[in-house]
Amino acid sequence: MAPSIAVAGAGLSGLLLAHRLVRAGVDVHVYERDEAPFTRPQGYRITVDADGLRALRTALPDELRAQILSTGGTPGGSFRFTNSRLRDAFTLTFKAEADGGRQIDRQVLRSALLNGLPERVHFGRAVSHIDGHDVHFDDGSHVHADVIVGADGVGSALRRQIAPGAEPRDSGMAGIYGRSPIPDLPDALRKSGVLAIGDRPASAFFFTSMRYATPPVGLVPDPRDYVMWGVVVRRTEVTDAPLQQQAVDQVRDYHPLIRSLVATADPAAIVLASFAVGCRPVRWPLPHATLTGDAIHVMPPFGAHGGNTALRDAGLLGDRLAGGGRPEAAIAAYQRDMVDYAFRDVDRAAAMMRRMTDSGAVGRFVLTRLLPSLHRHTVPAG
Ligand SMILES: Cc1cc2nc3c(=O)[nH]c(=O)nc-3n(C[C@H](O)[C@H](O)[C@H](O)COP(=O)(O)OP(=O)(O)OC[C@H]3O[C@@H](n4cnc5c(N)ncnc54)[C@H](O)[C@@H]3O)c2cc1C
Repeated sequence: MAPSIAVAGAGLSGLLLAHRLVRAGVDVHVYERDEAPFTRPQGYRITVDADGLRALRTALPDELRAQILSTGGTPGGSFRFTNSRLRDAFTLTFKAEADGGRQIDRQVLRSALLNGLPERVHFGRAVSHIDGHDVHFDDGSHVHADVIVGADGVGSALRRQIAPGAEPRDSGMAGIYGRSPIPDLPDALRKSGVLAIGDRPASAFFFTSMRYATPPVGLVPDPRDYVMWGVVVRRTEVTDAPLQQQAVDQVRDYHPLIRSLVATADPAAIVLASFAVGCRPVRWPLPHATLTGDAIHVMPPFGAHGGNTALRDAGLLGDRLAGGGRPEAAIAAYQRDMVDYAFRDVDRAAAMMRRMTDSGAVGRFVLTRLLPSLHRHTVPAG
């Protein structure tokens, strides 16, 4: 008989895993701490890459996957690394292939995944710990399951038991994130993400547009296109002042376009997130339990792999568990592969964060002065 599975957390990896298992006829239930789907601002987009797209393909029914992709941006475009005045240092260009990576709004993705799982997701159920095969909740209740999966994000309540010693470390850096209406953008920026590196050490600004190919009406409260942005700050610089004001202060020396993005943001959608760095697990003492996504391999948002790796975990773990055989063997095989690919991404993201925020005087000079001086202006100086 197929094992019963309890998943903690209805985020990207928990929901995709549930889809994969439901397709295989497995009895799976997802327990989510939030009281309802839209209780927190989660309105930002992720760039879903080849790994993420592959996982969506294996886990989802065709119509649901088509619905998700139909709202996404079109594949292709570029990513520019610039100085604070939006002068190009270098640019990465992505091919506009039909199955190429594309921007998908995270809330749209989550909402579509939720719609496809009626009766399987239980809101207002915060997991607290595991006791044998029982998952316990903050309200004192518990459920029994053959397999337990912690997909409960960076602050995982189950990590200490499932992978002791793998608590993530704080990088000391954080992001203030916001979303703003799309302004009249110069042509060079219409299909390009930007990481603008500031003149001061550890200062950078990121932004990109989310343009829906089809507006996701009915899936999210606000189906309008937007620009998502993030200001990189040292954690020690963050104060109790309103986040928008802090972001305004951080970008006062940046290009006017950047300043206007911060000024026109929706204050209710501005959030602060620390950049944590996952720590390689060395022990998995509960053979019937495992972790997916940020719960085990959180990474700083440099390189855009956190969500994709979470989706990849869900696809892989789902395939293993649906394949029959002993669930303990399926979990062990998943963990071997996952640690290998996911921590390669963690290392890369942490190294990129260091290069972009910490580079010494010479690196900073090359990125913010020397390389920009070699390129013509693609964005009018403000
Ligand atoms: C602004 C921003 C931009 C990003 N852009 C990208 C990108 O371009 N590309 C990319 O690949 N990644 C991106 N990421 C990272 C990506 O969003 C995360 O890596 C991804 O959401 C992790 O998925 P997850 O399923 O592990 O956890 P989450 O999606 O965080 O879900 C965890 C869920 O568990 C729930 N939960 C927490 N505690 C409990 C509990 N005790 N009991 C029950 N439920 C609980 C939470 O409420 C949540 O619903 C970005 C992140 C941010 C903040």
